[in-house]
Amino acid sequence: SYIYINDEFVDESEGKVSYSDRGYNFGDGIYEYIRIYDGKVFTSKEHYERLFRSAKEIGLNLDAYSVEGLTEVTKELAAKNNVVNGGVYIQVTRGVAPRNHPFPDASTKPVFSAFSKSYDRPYDELENGVKAITVEDIRWLRCDIKSLNLLGNVLAKEKATQNDAAEAIMHRGETVTEGSSSNVYAIKDGKIYTHPANNLILNGITRRVIKELAEDLNIPFIEESFTLDFLNNADEVIISSTSIEVMPVVQVNDQKIGDGKVGQITKQLQNAFNNYIESKS
Ligand code: PLP
Repeated sequence: SYIYINDEFVDESEGKVSYSDRGYNFGDGIYEYIRIYDGKVFTSKEHYERLFRSAKEIGLNLDAYSVEGLTEVTKELAAKNNVVNGGVYIQVTRGVAPRNHPFPDASTKPVFSAFSKSYDRPYDELENGVKAITVEDIRWLRCDIKSLNLLGNVLAKEKATQNDAAEAIMHRGETVTEGSSSNVYAIKDGKIYTHPANNLILNGITRRVIKELAEDLNIPFIEESFTLDFLNNADEVIISSTSIEVMPVVQVNDQKIGDGKVGQITKQLQNAFNNYIESKS
C-alpha cells in the first residue's frame, strides 16, 4: 500500500527514515490517529487542530502545513489505499540532524509521514464490553501533548495484555487519570465523571464528542477527577478513543462493574455516537 512521506505518496517499501531522525533518537515528535468511516475522514479538523497545538507546545514549526492541506492528504491516502473503514496515522518529527539534545538549526525540516489501515469497527467488544486493569501512571506531566514518547503507555498496555485485559486504566496515587490509549469515565447515579482536560490527560477528540452527546441527552458530564475506589464502585465504566469509540468496561481487575453487563447510559451514548457518525458521513 501507499504511505505519505516527505510530501509524497510512495509505496510502503520506499518509506525510508534516517537513523538520525529525532523521532527515532529522542521520540521528539507528535502524532495523530484519524478514523475513516464509510470512506470519509471523521473529525479530521479537530485532530489536525490538536496536532498544531501539540506542535506549538513543543516548539515544532508546522508553518508549511495547514489543517485543510493535511485533511486533503488524509483523504487522498485513504482513497489510494481503498480504505472504507479504518484509520490514518500521521506523525511529525523535529527532523534529521546529528544527535544532540538541543533543537537543531531552524532550517531543519520536520519529517512528516502517514500510513493508513483498514479494519472494521469493534462490534463484539462494543456490545459485550471489555476487561481493564489498573496501573500506576508513571508518565511525564505533559500528557496533554500527543507526543511520540509513549514508553509509559506501552508498559501499561503490555501489563494489560499480559493480564488478558483490553486496557490499562492509569492512576496517579488514588486519582484515576486515563487509559494507556484512551480516556476513562465512571458513571454513578446517572452522571458521567471524567478527569478534567488538563496536563495529566490527553483531551481526546472522542471525549469531546461524548461530552457534546451527553449534553444533548441531558446526562450531566462532570469534569472532575475521581478515585480508584469511585471507579470500582461505579454503576458503569467507559473508555473511549478514535479506534475503540464508546467502549464499555465490564470488569476492572477482578471486580465486576455494576452487574457486569453493559449499562443503560453507555448504550444511550453508543446509539448517539452511531447517529453522530452517520450524520458526518
Ligand atoms: N488518551 C491517550 C493516552 C491516548 O493515547 C488516546 C488515543 O490514542 C486517547 C486518550 C483518546 O484520544 P482520541 O479520542 O482523540 O483518540
